[in-house]
Amino acid sequence: MAANDCIFCQISSGAIPAQKLFEDGHVFAIRDIRPQAPVHVLVIPKRHVPSLWELEDETLAGALLAAAARIARDEGLAEGWRLIANTREHGGQEVPHLHLHVLGGRKLGRMLER
Ligand code: AMP
Ligand code: ZN
Repeated sequence: MAANDCIFCQISSGAIPAQKLFEDGHVFAIRDIRPQAPVHVLVIPKRHVPSLWELEDETLAGALLAAAARIARDEGLAEGWRLIANTREHGGQEVPHLHLHVLGGRKLGRMLER
């Protein structure tokens, strides 16, 4: 169910305009407003799923992953890139609508701070 106060539902429905880099029947992709790498794109399901914890739809899971790989190729990240899904509180999730971060364009360093 779309949440009226969910920023990504509002972008999904068009209530808040955003430039979509990619869109199919299941997902869309936008650039992160606070990029942490030269390429920082969010891949977002069109329907409201709170986080990866709640994701059971395998078709949607496949669409998310395929879109992330397509974005990486479209953005020219042949030297490498990283996919992140911050999940729930310990995962550092801030926006409670599932999204994948596609990050690249520079050497990203260690995966986690020690
Ligand atoms: P997370 O910590 O995984 O929930 O990250 C949420 C991400 O969404 C952050 O990197 C924000 O910069 C990004 N973000 C929040 N609002 C918007 C928006 N309106 N358009 C694009 N990115 C956004
Ligand atoms: Zn939402």
